[in-house]
Amino acid sequence: MIIIMHSQVTEGEIDNVAAKLKSLGLEANISRGIERTIIGAIGDERKIHKETLEALPGVEDVIRVMKPYKIVARESHQANTVVDIKGIPLGGKKLQVIAGPCSVETQSQMDLAAQATAHAGCRLMRGGAFKPRTSPYSFQGKGVEGLKIFRQAADKHNLPIVTELMDVRHLDYFLEYGVEVIQIGARNMQNFDLLKEVGKVHIPIILKRGLCATLSEWLMSAEYIAAGGNHNIILCERGVRSFEKTYRNMLDVTAIPMLKKETHLPVIVDPSHAGGKAWLVSALSKASIAAGADGLLVEMHPTPCEAWCDADQALTPDELKNLMSEWRVLAQAVGRDL
Ligand code: PEP
Ligand code: MN
Repeated sequence: MIIIMHSQVTEGEIDNVAAKLKSLGLEANISRGIERTIIGAIGDERKIHKETLEALPGVEDVIRVMKPYKIVARESHQANTVVDIKGIPLGGKKLQVIAGPCSVETQSQMDLAAQATAHAGCRLMRGGAFKPRTSPYSFQGKGVEGLKIFRQAADKHNLPIVTELMDVRHLDYFLEYGVEVIQIGARNMQNFDLLKEVGKVHIPIILKRGLCATLSEWLMSAEYIAAGGNHNIILCERGVRSFEKTYRNMLDVTAIPMLKKETHLPVIVDPSHAGGKAWLVSALSKASIAAGADGLLVEMHPTPCEAWCDADQALTPDELKNLMSEWRVLAQAVGRDL
């Protein structure tokens, strides 16, 4: 941390800052320049509030030099983290595509969806049993019954399942049904109590980006999970709120290389919730692979026009299969595999 003192600072004010740092467990390195005195705080600054120092007399500005996150930072762990999902690596050379419907609806819908997911060559399946809906009058998901349906459909094809946890009171059901990957949705990215709870299990977590979260806020949320002991975290970019109304969210492609620089965690992209239209999935997913994404989370429904939720953005089974071939070619072009 660097503390910049006012130009008219007194020796007493400098001594006072140095004493405050000492009481906080940090050492002060005082550098007296011609125009300014700058104090370098030496030690772990993460536990210190900037405001505590900013409020001291004679202080003009306080600048942090350390990242606020530690475990998830690339600087603390150089190599890419590869999350193991029942033997399926996510974050390595091979890209992973997680496909399936927005919501679990019926057994036959999920059986057809699982068959199409496996047939397209995807190794993981998605589907929401507990749905975060904007309106309380919209379909809220099948709940526990949905987990049961999903499990049964996915097991026929040996597909690990990815499903959203909204309430910690449902965690036991997720354990009971052996959910392989827990999704924390955009709306819960900063539900810190929920993050602490999923930090205590060792099940891989997909942490989606909040609707208007900065990369730093997102990584701090990942740090909450990691601090609890669960380091199996996958970040999922799904678009952010913007002023544009012609599509659902603005896919932040820049976030992909930026995150790759900042963190060792795998980064996947959900082009379905970003664009909100099935026809946009092709372009957005390809841009994501080209930018270095480790995988995709896409919505596919056996009959999109009959979907109970997010019908507009669901791929058909054929569209998914065709895109898998295109993604494979692109993956190879950027030194990856599918
Ligand atoms: C979802 O993936 O089903 C979902 C609700 O996504 P998000 O949290 O990104 O809106
Ligand atoms: Mn959806």
